[in-house]
Amino acid sequence: MTQPLSGGCQCGQLRYEIRGTPGGLTVCHCADCQKQSGSAFGLSLDVDPDDFHQVSGTARTFEWLCDSGRTKVCVFCPDCGSRIYHKGEWGISLKAGTLDDTSTLEPGHHVWTKRRQPWVAIPDGVSQCEDDG
Ligand SMILES: [Zn+2]
Ligand SMILES: [Zn+2]
Repeated sequence: MTQPLSGGCQCGQLRYEIRGTPGGLTVCHCADCQKQSGSAFGLSLDVDPDDFHQVSGTARTFEWLCDSGRTKVCVFCPDCGSRIYHKGEWGISLKAGTLDDTSTLEPGHHVWTKRRQPWVAIPDGVSQCEDDG
């Protein structure tokens, strides 16, 4: 990956940089992620909040109570609606599809596989969990 990683929302008014090395990439198959993404799963890249820098645009936020009982702040572009990241006490879960260069993304973990669409294949050897473990 080239540093810093950059990305933004679909319309481009909100731009960010990640100045540091992100953590792991998780595919989440839960019902919330399917609803939020309008797709089959969510892609979450662990990012240290100190490494995330919004460099242009404005964001809006709302709070969401997770099934786990934890609250997360959902950050999105008010113009195009792209979800950018979720923030909680654990840090930032960046919606990795908003990165400019997604070619190097390789999920290391799949969660909520009991909600997985049957046509989504998980490669052999990649760790997975039935729920949020
Ligand atoms: Zn936008
Ligand atoms: Zn999820």
